[in-house]
Amino acid sequence: MHSPSIKRRLCVAAIAASLCSVAPLMAQQSEDAEQSAEQRKNVILIIGDGMDDQQITIARNYLKGARGKLLMDQLPLRSVSQILTQDDEAPSKPVYVADSANSATSMATGISTSRGRIATSAGENRDLVTIAELAKQAGYATGIVTTASVTDATPASFIAHTASRGCENPNVMKPFEDSPRWLDPTACEADRVTNGGPGSISRQIALGNHDVILGGGQKHFSPIAEESKKSVSELAQNNGYRIVTDQQGLLDVQSSALVEDKILGLFSPSTMPTQWQGEDGRSAEKPEPSLLNMIDWRLGSVELPSTMICEDNPSFDGIPRLKQMTDIAIEQLWKRSQQGFFLMIESASIDKQSHKRNPCGSIGEVEQLEEALASALKFAEQEPNTLILVTADHGQAAQLIPAPSMFKSIGVPVYTPGHVARIITPENQVLSVNYATNDFPSEEHTGTNVPLFSNDVGLGKVPPMVTQPEIFELMKNHLFD
Ligand SMILES: [Zn+2]
Repeated sequence: MHSPSIKRRLCVAAIAASLCSVAPLMAQQSEDAEQSAEQRKNVILIIGDGMDDQQITIARNYLKGARGKLLMDQLPLRSVSQILTQDDEAPSKPVYVADSANSATSMATGISTSRGRIATSAGENRDLVTIAELAKQAGYATGIVTTASVTDATPASFIAHTASRGCENPNVMKPFEDSPRWLDPTACEADRVTNGGPGSISRQIALGNHDVILGGGQKHFSPIAEESKKSVSELAQNNGYRIVTDQQGLLDVQSSALVEDKILGLFSPSTMPTQWQGEDGRSAEKPEPSLLNMIDWRLGSVELPSTMICEDNPSFDGIPRLKQMTDIAIEQLWKRSQQGFFLMIESASIDKQSHKRNPCGSIGEVEQLEEALASALKFAEQEPNTLILVTADHGQAAQLIPAPSMFKSIGVPVYTPGHVARIITPENQVLSVNYATNDFPSEEHTGTNVPLFSNDVGLGKVPPMVTQPEIFELMKNHLFD
């Protein structure tokens, strides 16, 4: 990506001084603002992508020990969310496993759609109004924070509308030219500007009016925009976005952004690197049966992958943590509307690392989500009318399996047909994480329901079980009732 020229504004005016302070948010709160805190309504939706109960349990065991509790475990309300997905060709029929596009669309719009769709309806391809759009129209500030590209399926479903999640930037909008192999070359046809569509997801974000958007995805903003001589980042700047691309830029924004500035933070070319990786970059591996065992499953032996520790990922150096992005987003949104705000925070690589069979990457992302949740809860202590929901969009492949096998005493080699990572935990025990949805380089999602947690604001409002589109209703009711 070329370096966008960042428009810097100095905080000189007395009026601006209070807005430019780096002091803690609530320290600046004026008497008026304190009075209005009771009337302000905020929604913070935290999505762990792929964070089903297997992922949570694996992370809990590693981060807190088998008897420990995560912060999300200590929230006063725990419900469950049933994922709904429709068949695109026969929209009234269900499909039992989702992707992030349709599941995020359920939460963003209250309408169940088909896989791959970004806030558009199954079959008829109609734009669906999102909670972020409703909030913005009604005077709330709106923000998105993610460790994925900001154009990725989960964030995009709140702030864009396309028939396919693949329509992330202008280059892939041109059929048959630069489309990635996995993307149907006609998938973005209806959304092309020349066909009267809204253009790529990055273009829609650049021309949109959401206040704070932070995450990865620089590469989707550097191409020349559709039907324009300007890059997508230039369109964003012309539309009032301050673009920041590193830690320092983020700190500058924190100290100097004016309320009329919109903020677009793009901190990596694509998905932001995870904080942890497997030892020496290893992920789960396949057990190796002996020749005799390959001839007869009752004979011979099997060699399991060697154990490993989780280690720091060197690529994470200099990358903002999800907590830092969350803190700055909350502070900036709080300044921008006396009415309150809607903020979606996504820890994306619980899912992405599970596709890659890397439990250390996923565990580190759950830890990042926990830190962001701590920030949200701290804010809610001072803004009590803040509904915090923590959930996942869909299930993922990782399974916690016995180490050693429960059938070890029978005396025959028993092992997974999939890939397994045997992680040494801080309790010095083996945590055996299995991936076996397929033999393809990328694992698949699974169709389990996922947890839905809430802070005390959700008590009496969040039922014991919801379908995923009902999460939209919960958020809408909080902001508008
Ligand atoms: Zn996924």
